[in-house]
Order: sequence, then structure tokens, then C-alpha cells
Amino acid sequence: MNESYLIWGISFAVFAAIIIPYYLSFRKRQKLDLERKKEAEYIGIGAPRSQFPMVNNADCIGCGSCVDACPEHDVLGIVFGKAAVINGDRCVGHGYCELICPVGALKVGLGDVKQRPDIPVLSEFNETTVPGLFIAGELGGISLIRNAIAQGKLVVDRIAEINKIRSNPNTDFDLVIIGCGPAGLSASLTAMENHLSYVTIDQQDPGGTILQYPRRKLVMTQPVDIPLYGRLDKREYSKEHLLELWQNIIQNRKLNILPQTKLEEIRRHDSFFSITAGGKEITAGFVVLAMGRRGTPRKLGAVGEDRAKVMYQLIDAQSYEKMNLLVVGGGDSAAEAAIGLARQNGNIVHLSYRKPKLFRIKKKNEERINEMIKTGSIKPIFNSNVIEIKDKLALVAVDGKTVEIPNDYVFIFAGGIPPFDMLKEMGITFGGNYRELASV
Ligand SMILES: Cc1cc2nc3c(=O)[nH]c(=O)nc-3n(C[C@H](O)[C@H](O)[C@H](O)COP(=O)(O)OP(=O)(O)OC[C@H]3O[C@@H](n4cnc5c(N)ncnc54)[C@H](O)[C@@H]3O)c2cc1C
Repeated sequence: MNESYLIWGISFAVFAAIIIPYYLSFRKRQKLDLERKKEAEYIGIGAPRSQFPMVNNADCIGCGSCVDACPEHDVLGIVFGKAAVINGDRCVGHGYCELICPVGALKVGLGDVKQRPDIPVLSEFNETTVPGLFIAGELGGISLIRNAIAQGKLVVDRIAEINKIRSNPNTDFDLVIIGCGPAGLSASLTAMENHLSYVTIDQQDPGGTILQYPRRKLVMTQPVDIPLYGRLDKREYSKEHLLELWQNIIQNRKLNILPQTKLEEIRRHDSFFSITAGGKEITAGFVVLAMGRRGTPRKLGAVGEDRAKVMYQLIDAQSYEKMNLLVVGGGDSAAEAAIGLARQNGNIVHLSYRKPKLFRIKKKNEERINEMIKTGSIKPIFNSNVIEIKDKLALVAVDGKTVEIPNDYVFIFAGGIPPFDMLKEMGITFGGNYRELASV
């Protein structure tokens, strides 16, 4: 009898030693993930930008392997025992969550595109509902560098075929490519490969979104063939390595790129397009939009905002030391920039925001920035608006007074203007089925 009590006792102790810690850590993780989900919804980063993990709750066993597999770390969580998208905005579509799920409960995709008003309707060759106007890369809804490169090639190969039958000898170029990220670069190389005349314009320098990755970020990609270059076959590259590779290709191939030139308007005529960019008009038989989905940085409208010292992104905080710096904005990007700059040696960082406090930022950023405000390493100027940016200072309106804030650089984080309205004005249809719409 005693022996059987002993066996039961030991079995129970072993069971409790394994199950209780597991249960407690499961509950703790779930509580944290639920808080993260609420926070992400509150600050408006819960919704995905492009493809995202779609979880089938009936099959999901809540093991969390998808959460751990995500290279961006912050996208998924476990809520009420099931995997859930928490920070959809951070999903770039790597798809490791789908590969690792032991029960096949998760798929990475766009969902029902008919329901998505932000996904342009495209043919199998990525032609929009405006004949001759194509989309390549993330703008079409699918992210990742390798997809952008593949689509840049797909659309220009298709254009080359059509151009054999109906080229327009009276236009400046066969083709204009808007955007020089991975999709635009691949489209430019494919145009060269097909002996098409082309020009590629970009509102910034070539590189696309990769330019905005944090310093030394590891870029994960799967083998991909770059036209006229060859295979990128490593699984990981540093951001800097990839940008250097881009630059070498551009120089060696002498690609026809106009940097710092923003697309303003595209108009379709009977047999060609006129494109207004950087104040000039260009005509072409075809257009490829490879503009990504991140849009154009929103400007403040302050006098002097076009000065070279004004920036809309912070790439490398470590290059700013012993300087006066003004950060403008109240979201996570502004908070992260102010924190990063204030950590460098000898900087004096002011943070100007038009509201009375920072409302919509992640808890982690809120705690860090409040600490730095307390210690004086970040000087907040709430209820303020930048009126003018001069050579060594900015004029900032605060509570009806104008104050002078000295600065060597100004970083503005006022969000981005997505290009969807512009695309609609061009006649591109969103949300729906190409076959149905093209036959109307
Ligand atoms: C933080 C982060 C990490 C990521 N990590 C990875 C990763 O590890 N691996 C991976 O494969 N993918 C990753 N991605 C996704 C990847 O960067 C994108 O899917 C890819 O860059 C899309 O390429 P694209 O050419 O379609 O667009 P983009 O790279 O966005 O390029 C668009 C270009 O168009 C230009 N443009 C926009 N509007 C205009 C205009 N009006 N006039 C002129 N030019 C214009 C822009 O300046 C930009 O250069 C990541 C994304 C982010 C944000």
C-alpha cells in the first residue's frame, strides 16, 4: 500500500514539476501577447501592409513555434491559446511561420483580395486595369526582395513582347520605370537586356526601402536571379553589402537612373503616357510603377523645409555626435530617433510635437523616452509647431510664442502619404478580379 502511495506521489510530483511551470509561462506569455495586441491596435500598427500570416483557428494548437520563427520578432503572438497577428505592420512576408507550423494551420498571403481596397487589380503579368501601365514589387501587395526582383523581370519581359507588335516611335522612351528599389532595379536591367529604351526615376537615391533599414540589419532572402548580374545565393546579406552590390550593378551597367526626382503625375493618351516628374514631362509607350507601399514622407509645410539639413529618416544615429538636433513628430519613429540620437556622445536633442504628450507610442518606447526626458537628455517641446527652419536654428511656435531652437539637423517624422490616391487618379482599379474588370 505504502509503495503504491509512493509511486503515485512521485508521479504527481514529476507531473507538477513539468506541467505547472509550463502552464505558468504559457499564461504569462499569453497575458503579454494580449497586451501587445491591444497596444498595437491602439497605436494603429495592427493591420498588415501586404501579405500576412492567416491563422486557421480550428487547426492551430497554440504551440508558439510560428511566433519564435519570425525573423522580425514582433509580428505574431499567442492569444487565447491560438496564434494571432499582433503587429501586422511589421510583417514583411518571410513565411518562416508557415514553414514551421507543425499542423499546417497558417498560410502567408493577401487574404481575399476582392475584400482589400488597398490591393490594385492586376493581370497575370501584373498589368493594371489601365492598358500599358504595369505594377512591380510591393506596390502590388506582395513584399520581399526576391518577389520584387522576380516581378520587375516578369513585367518588363511582357512589355518587350508587346512592344514588338506595337511600339510607338514618337515617344521619348519605350518605357518609364517609377522607383528604384529591388523591383525598379530588376525592371531597369530587364529593359536593358531586351534593348528597350527606358529611364528610371526615384524620389530618393537608388535602393528603395532597404535604404531605410536599421544599420547593419541582416537581410534575409532566398536565392534569386538578378537580370544581367546572376544569382544572389546567400540566405543572409547585411543591408550595407546589398546596397553596395546594387551600386556596383548600377555603375557597371550604366543604368539610366534619375535620382531625387519625384513622380508628380501620369496621364494616358491614346497610344502613349505622359509622365511629369521633377518638373519635367517625359513620354513613353509603357510605364512600370515600382514605387513600393511606403509612400512619400509627409512634409510639415514649414519655411526652409527644403534645406539639405532636413531629413525624413534616420539611418545611422552614430554619425551624429556633439550636435544640436531637432526631432519633429510624436509616433514611434520620432521617439526611436530621439532616443537613438540622445544616446550619442554630446548631443542636445529637442523633440517638438504638436500635441500635449506622446500618446500613440509603444510602451517600451514610452518608458525609455520618459526616462530620458526626466534625466534631461531629451528636451520635449509639446503643443508646438515648427514654422521655419533656418541655417542654425528653427523657429517653433509654442503656446502663442515663437521660440528659437538651435540645431545642426532636423529630423521630421510626420508619417507617409501612401500612393493609392495617385494610382486611382491614373484610373487604376483596386479590390477585385482582373478578368471580370478587364472585360467590362
Ligand atoms: C524594416 C524592414 C525589414 C525588411 N526586411 C526584409 C528582409 O529581410 N528580406 C526581404 O526580402 N524583405 C524585407 N523587407 C521587405 C522589402 O524591403 C520590400 O518588400 C522590398 O524593398 C520591396 O521592393 P520594391 O522595389 O517593391 O519597393 P521599395 O523597396 O519600397 O522601393 C520603392 C521605391 O520607389 C520610390 N518612390 C516611391 N514613390 C515615388 C514617387 N512618387 N516618385 C519617385 N519615386 C518614388 C521610393 O523612393 C523607393 O526607392 C523589409 C521591409 C522593412 C520595412
